[in-house]
Amino acid sequence: MTDRLDLVVRGERVLTGDRFQPCEVGARAGRIEVIAPLGTALAGDRVVELAADEVLLPGLVDTHVHVNEPGRTDWEGFETATRAAARGGVTTLVDMPLNSIPPTVSVAALREKVAATEGKRHVDVGFWGGATPESLGELRSLHDAGVMGFKCFLLHSGVEEFGHLDGDGLEHALRELAGYDALMVVHAEDAEAIDQAPPAAGAGYDGFLRSRPRAAENRAIAEVIERARRTGARVHVLHLSSAEALPMIASARRDGVRITVETCPHYLALAAEDVPDGATAFKCCPPIREASNRELLWQGLQDGTIDCVVSDHSPSTIDLKNLETGDFGTAWGGVASLQLGLSIVWTAARERGIDLAEVVRWMSTAPAALVGLGAKGAIAVGRDADLVVLAPDEAFVVDPAALEHRNAITPYAGATLWGVVRRTVLAGVEIDVAFDRPAGRLIWRGAS
Ligand SMILES: [Zn+2]
Repeated sequence: MTDRLDLVVRGERVLTGDRFQPCEVGARAGRIEVIAPLGTALAGDRVVELAADEVLLPGLVDTHVHVNEPGRTDWEGFETATRAAARGGVTTLVDMPLNSIPPTVSVAALREKVAATEGKRHVDVGFWGGATPESLGELRSLHDAGVMGFKCFLLHSGVEEFGHLDGDGLEHALRELAGYDALMVVHAEDAEAIDQAPPAAGAGYDGFLRSRPRAAENRAIAEVIERARRTGARVHVLHLSSAEALPMIASARRDGVRITVETCPHYLALAAEDVPDGATAFKCCPPIREASNRELLWQGLQDGTIDCVVSDHSPSTIDLKNLETGDFGTAWGGVASLQLGLSIVWTAARERGIDLAEVVRWMSTAPAALVGLGAKGAIAVGRDADLVVLAPDEAFVVDPAALEHRNAITPYAGATLWGVVRRTVLAGVEIDVAFDRPAGRLIWRGAS
């Protein structure tokens, strides 16, 4: 029926649309060319037969990764981050504009970032630009250069070289972005609310939690909603932790405000009550909150208020995590989990009776749609042949030393997770286990 394909994957459980069915998927020249009933016996140069315990999923799209190269390559880098992504079934990542030096706040800085990826991309890589008080004149040229959108902070970003916007600065930037329908993604914690909270110090997690109250997120999200309402701009709330903000987000969306929301594996799988004293691997901002809050985030996902689940992989060197003192006040805030996201969320979902297809929608389809990558996020004819072979009912114990990301620290050390990624396919070619043929492409906004 067709000429020979480059790759054929056959199996009983292939995720097409929102359900698993017996299928053969044929790819040529990087794209999915045909999906046929199992038994069609499509011919390919390479044929993969799924084992009885394996399912085929579209590659995950992780739109929130801090790679930190150039400039803080000892924290993470494209070589190690994209290996971790590949092993975890992530075939597309979008790099955050900060923690690298320079931050991605100009086209010149974007060029440096792109150069830093050469020869090191084991998966496809795209970029966010940064909206800071100094970069407002650069937004249009960064947009034209192909960044997926812009990130801003409403409080100190954690690094000196990436400034934050106040409410009026946010509105000013949103007015500009609305002019060319660019997306603004916001770290929504309110500076004043955090200043008024008791500062974090010492090894107790509860002190850290009190220093980043839900109210800080709630207030900042209300601000984002109002500024988006006034300007008509598209906004996206990053790493939602406070479930209290869900009703106002849902109501803003009903009013026509163009707002989307993500949360992260750590907010869905971990709980403040369980964080050991001094365990700064768990420190991130906004913080991991109580189990009761976590269950409300699950509800928000299931009722569609939360769109995406992405990693916010934000590592540092191990010494910056203050493991000796366990001081939550001064430790770097960021969780490293890029390689584990699918297993973390799937483990927590299966405990709640939630289908794997839903998890894939949150971690692949929705993030691809968020950044307008029409060729990603599903197993469908015409899409990129980015595929993951997962054994959903196989468990493993997390050994930080065995993970690919640069610094062997993660809050999931020793955890038992379900779901082993057995193979990852990028553009129709299996990513090799030795990682000696990096084949990831640069991807730009609107690529399809
Ligand atoms: Zn982040």
